[in-house]
Formats: sequence, structure tokens, C-alpha cells
Amino acid sequence: MESEGKQITDQFGRVHNYLRISLTERCNLRCFYCMPEEGIALRPRSVFMNKKEIIDVAKTFVSLGVTKIRLTGGEPLVRIDAKEIIQALSELPVELAITTNGVLVDNFIDTFKSIGLKSINVSLDSLQKEKLNRITRREYFDKIMSNINLLIQNKFHVKLNAVLLRGVNDCELFDFIEFTKKKNVHFRFIEFMPFNGNKWDWQKGVSFKEVMDRIDLQYGSSVLRLEDRKNDTAKNFMIKNYCGTFAVISSVSNPFCDTCNRIRLTADGKIKNCLFSNSETDILSALREGKDIQHLILETINNKKSFRGGMDTFKQLADSAHRNKNRTMVAIGG
Ligand code: SF4
Repeated sequence: MESEGKQITDQFGRVHNYLRISLTERCNLRCFYCMPEEGIALRPRSVFMNKKEIIDVAKTFVSLGVTKIRLTGGEPLVRIDAKEIIQALSELPVELAITTNGVLVDNFIDTFKSIGLKSINVSLDSLQKEKLNRITRREYFDKIMSNINLLIQNKFHVKLNAVLLRGVNDCELFDFIEFTKKKNVHFRFIEFMPFNGNKWDWQKGVSFKEVMDRIDLQYGSSVLRLEDRKNDTAKNFMIKNYCGTFAVISSVSNPFCDTCNRIRLTADGKIKNCLFSNSETDILSALREGKDIQHLILETINNKKSFRGGMDTFKQLADSAHRNKNRTMVAIGG
């Protein structure tokens, strides 16, 4: 298993060129499908990658062919040196992207503009103040909405991520789509996924098929199917003559593992070759011992399972979450 030129491939020949780096396990929200009710135990700073380690590891991945880096968390922007890390990573030959909950965006807008950041994902699970505050267990609705408008005014490509939960926000499906009528945003409906501590039950999820059946019933022939980009996790659509678009990310009911190109690096320096995989490789300890991490990266990805980390069935998915085999969402970064 040689790194042929600049490529990280797995045993199925999938090329992995997209690295998702979790900058922190901390967050200023407490979304109930992500963060366990009791929160997660805060660990000493020494456990986590410092700024230099993040940059060094990122450079190693880039030398192995990574062309896109997404920063996630917890909430990446709560990290005290987030600006420096964003600026340093923007100097690498990669497409840089960020997923944020939007609360602190106004503090970063100049940094985003200065590095030429084009696209930004903001979590927005409801357009209703009281409900969003209930889902996030914090009172930031107004701040998040004004920051989303700030990003739109500054011509960023804004993607809005909503985890669809039955009986919670699935009733807002058409409101989310109507939000794209006059606003050039891309609303993405994410299927509820099982993670440690989020009491996952697929009965609470809304499948890709159900979402599209509802939308087709409501909008009929005005629903247009858009071309998906290579390796896209989303199935993209728009309503005719609307400014924006929408998509569904169906990891549970209609997975897209065939074209997976994603690698995850957790804030404590572990590589996950799949979001649902229970196995991880510690590259931070190796880095701190001055050992070669390239080999660890190539091996970890080579051993990747073909499908959902080996969780072929719903039962396996549920078991993995309920028996705390995987991490909490906040400790992976999605
Ligand atoms: S479930 Fe795992 S293999 Fe499938 S698309 Fe997600 S990260 Fe890739």
C-alpha cells in the first residue's frame, strides 16, 4: 500500500482528498441531537491538538493529496486561536470551508473575507425563535439570523443545515424551502444520525424518500433536480424560479458511501476513516513522539470499510450509538 503520487486511497479504490478537522469539542450551544443532556466531560488542553500541530498535520494530509479542508467542532469559532488557525490553513493549496452554528460569525466576517473564504455552512434547525432556542438550549436565534443575513449581504455562498426531526421541525419543511424563494441560500435537510448519547431512534428521523414525497406533493413539477457534484453527500434540487436551492443528506436511509472521499480528524488528534466507524487511529501521540504519521494515515484509510463503517443494518447503527461505541457528534464534528 504505497502512496501513489499524492493520493490516499482505500482498499476499494476510493480516493480521499477531503479532510474534516474538528478544532474543539467545546460549543456555545447544546443541540439535543448532538450534545448529550449532561454535556461532555471537558478534558485538559494538553489532550487536544495545539495550533502548530493542527497546521503540521494538515500539511501532511495536503502532501498526500488532500485538496479540501473543512473546519468543524463542537463550534470551531469558540476556539481562542481560531482566527490564526483559519489564516494559517488558508495559505495551504486547499479549498477551505467551515461549518459553524453562526453565533460568532460577526466576529470573523473580516477574517473570512481576508482569506477569500467562499462557502460557509451554518446550522439552522428552525426558523422559529422559541423552537430554535429549545433545540439548541440557548437563546441565540436573533444573533444567528442576523449573522446569516450578514453572510448573505457579503455574498458568501451560504448553506443552511437542518437536522430533520419528526414532531420537532419536520413541520417546517416548506418554510425552509420558502426561505430559498427570495434568498440565494442552499438549505440542506440532514437525516437524523445515531451518535453516542443522542438517544437515536429512526422513528424520530425523516427519510429522504418521505422528504421528497412531501415536497413533490406540495410543489409538483416545479421541483427541479440539480446535478450533484462529484463526491457530493447531498442530493440537490430547487423550486423553479426560486433564488436558492435545497438538498437532502441521507446517510441513514440512502447512504452515499460509494463515492466517499472524507477523512475526519478529531480535536484530540485521532483519525476516523468513517463517521460511523468505531475505530480510530491516534496520530497526535505519534506526532508528539516525532514518529511518521503518513504511514498511519495511509493504513487507517486503507482499512476503511466499504459502507458506513461496517454498520450495514439499522440495528448495527443503533447498537453502535446506544452502546457508546462511537463518539458523541460534538466530539466528531459531523
Ligand atoms: S458513512 Fe462513512 S463511508 Fe459512508 S459516506 Fe459517511 S463517512 Fe463515508
